[in-house]
Amino acid sequence: MTDFQLFTDAQWRERLSSEEYRVLRQAGTEAPHVGEYVDTKTQGVYSCRACGTELFRSTEKFDSHCGWPSFFSPLAGDRVIEREDRSHGMVRTEVVCANCGSHLGHVFAGEGYDTPTDLRYCINSISLRLVPQQVTED
Ligand SMILES: [Zn+2]
Repeated sequence: MTDFQLFTDAQWRERLSSEEYRVLRQAGTEAPHVGEYVDTKTQGVYSCRACGTELFRSTEKFDSHCGWPSFFSPLAGDRVIEREDRSHGMVRTEVVCANCGSHLGHVFAGEGYDTPTDLRYCINSISLRLVPQQVTED
């Protein structure tokens, strides 16, 4: 198995497009409302675009109207790592892929969304790749 944690910058640049690299490897943010999965309702599993690990499912995706794909929970808690992000003069919680360490987005809590967790995993479309498939809720 490829150990993506050992990838060099040059390897990432080769593997990713420049915009993917900017978001996934430099913690960039894509513009709101333009990402390819913002309003996607297709059933399936969202994998990390950098390493292919399954991260989120369509069953936990909800309409947050914030401009980015939003999930109330990851596929499993150990698929992502959450860490404090004090960039841009804010204290936020960054979400990164546990397998490859690539930046996915941020998670926000207690905003009052009518979801089971009241969490909003606000994830860049470009950090994900949707694999359409039948998904059953568990
Ligand atoms: Zn990954």
